[in-house]
Amino acid sequence: MRTGIWVLGDQLWMGQAALNSCEHEKINTPVIIIESHNYAQKRPYHRQKLVLVWSAMRHFAAELRSTGWLVTYSISDDFETALLNWIKENRIDEVRIMSPNDRPFTQLINNLQLGCSINLIPNNHFLWSVTEFKEWANSRKRLLLEDFYREGRKRFNILVEENKPIGGKWNFDQQNRQPPKGKLKTPQVLWFEPDEITNSVIEEIKALSWTSYGEIEPFKWGVSRSNAKTILEHFIRQCLPTFGPYQDAMITGENSLWHSLISPYLNLGLLTPIEVIEAAQLAYFENNLDLNSVEGFIRQVLGWREYMNGIYHYVDEDYRESNWFNHNGSLPNFYWQSSQTDMNCLHQVLNQVEKTGYAHHIQRLMVLSNFALIVGVSPQKIESWFQAAFVDAYDWVMVPNVIGMGQFADGGILGSKPYASSANYLNKMSDYCGNCVYDYKQKIGEKACPFNFFYWDFLDRHQEQIKSLGRMNFVLGHLNRLKAEEINEIRALAVNWRENNCR
Ligand code: FAD
Ligand code: SF4
Repeated sequence: MRTGIWVLGDQLWMGQAALNSCEHEKINTPVIIIESHNYAQKRPYHRQKLVLVWSAMRHFAAELRSTGWLVTYSISDDFETALLNWIKENRIDEVRIMSPNDRPFTQLINNLQLGCSINLIPNNHFLWSVTEFKEWANSRKRLLLEDFYREGRKRFNILVEENKPIGGKWNFDQQNRQPPKGKLKTPQVLWFEPDEITNSVIEEIKALSWTSYGEIEPFKWGVSRSNAKTILEHFIRQCLPTFGPYQDAMITGENSLWHSLISPYLNLGLLTPIEVIEAAQLAYFENNLDLNSVEGFIRQVLGWREYMNGIYHYVDEDYRESNWFNHNGSLPNFYWQSSQTDMNCLHQVLNQVEKTGYAHHIQRLMVLSNFALIVGVSPQKIESWFQAAFVDAYDWVMVPNVIGMGQFADGGILGSKPYASSANYLNKMSDYCGNCVYDYKQKIGEKACPFNFFYWDFLDRHQEQIKSLGRMNFVLGHLNRLKAEEINEIRALAVNWRENNCR
C-alpha cells in the first residue's frame, strides 16, 4: 500500500502531522503541493495574499526537496485534476492530509472523487487540539477568554510559578491602553526584498486577468521559514520590550507600531505558536523586560489565537450565518477603494490595507469593523470583505473575529458587549481626527462625524436588545436624554449617508 501526502497551502512546516507520520519513509512517500487557480478565484483576494501564499508554498516545496522528500508541485485549474494525475503516476492507494483547519476546506476534500482512500489525520497547528478545547468548554457555563487564557498559562507552564502568575496578576491590560500623546519613537519595521521565486510569482499574478484588489508592489512580506524566524527575532529585540503601552494606539503613516506582524507566518505554519511564546518568555527572563509588555503579547498568541480557533471548531457550522442585530445593509463602496472616502480614519486604514494587506488589531476592530457594525452592514458581507482583503485571513480566524468579536452577531457567545464606539474613542486613540474634514465632536450638522451619528443611530435602533445585555445602560441613559429633534436629525443623516455610500 502506497501513501502519498497532500500538503495544503497553510500547512507549511516540517513538523506538520501528515509529514511527521511518514518522516521515517520519506524517500518512498510522494508529496504534492497544489496551486489551484479556481480556488484562488473564490474571492477577490488581495494580490499580495496570492503572492505570499504561492511564494511560501514554492519555497516550502524547495525546502522539502532539499531534505529528501519527493515533491510534485502542481499548478492547476482545480485540485482534483492535479491529484488524479499524481495518484496515477505514483500508484498511490492512500492520500494522507493533515485535517484542514478551515471547515469549508474539509467539505471540499469530502467531495473529492479520487478513487482511493483519503486519510485525514488530526491537525497539530495549535497548542490546544479541537478535542481538548471542547472538553474545556463543555465543563463550563461561560466561555470567557480570560478563564481560557489562565488555563493555558498553567497548562503550558508559561509565566507561572507553582501555578500562580509571575508578577502576582494574570493581566496587565490597565497599563496597555495609552493614547498616542506627543512624539513617539516607534521601532523600524523589518521588510524583505522579493527573491527570484517571489518575483516570478508577482509577474505571473500581474498577468492574471481576474485579480483586482490591492497593490501588488512593493511586496515586502517574508515568504520562507527563514524570513519568518528573522521577523520573530526582530520583534523580540526591537518591539517586545515596549509592546504593551501603545498596543491600542493608531498613528498616521505607522502601519504596525509595536505589533509583531507575525500573523501571516503563524497562519501559514512558517512559525509555530509555541516557539513564539517561548521566545517572548525567554526574552522576559534574560533581559528583565516589563511584564505588562511580555504578558500582553503572550496573551495574544496563547490566549486570543488559541481561543478563536477553539471557538471556531466548537460552535455549529451555522455560526457564520449569525446576525443578532438583523443587519442587512450593503458594504460601503469605499471599502474596496479608499480614495472614495473623505473620512480620514477610514481612508488611512483602508489605504494601508490596499498597500500591504495588513492593519493592526485596533485598526481592524475599532475602525473597519466598528464602522460596519454601527452602519448596519450585514455581518456576512463585512466578513467576506475581511477574508478577501487581508494577507493573514483564513476562515478559522475571520469567522470568530468578525462575526463574533467585531459584529457581535452571535449575541454574546464570544464577548459580553458590542465593540461599538463614536468618534470620541478614535480621537483619543489616534491622530486621525486632527486632519479630517469632519468634526469629531459633532453628531449632527454639516460637519458631523459619521461615526457619531451612526453610533447614536445604532443605539437608537437596537435599544431593547442592547438593554438586555445589561452592560451599556450608561450610554443608553445618554441616548434617552437626547432631544427628539436631535434623534430625528441623526436618523435622517444615517439614512442619507447610506443612500449615498452603500449601493
Ligand atoms: P500582534 O498584535 O503582534 O499579536 C500577536 C499575534 O497574536 C498575532 O500575530 C496573532 O497571531 C495573535 N492574535 C492576536 N489577537 C488575535 C485574535 N483576535 N485572533 C487570532 N489571533 C490573534 N488575525 C489573523 O490572524 N487573521 C485575520 O484574518 C484576522 N482578522 C481579524 C479581523 C478582525 C475584525 C479583528 C478584530 C481581528 C482580526 N484578527 C485576525 C486578529 C488580530 O487583529 C490579528 O491577528 C493581528 O492584528 C495580526 O497582527 P500582528 O501579527 O502584528 O499581531
Ligand atoms: Fe474618523 Fe470622524 Fe475622526 Fe474624521 S472625525 S477621522 S471620520 S472619527
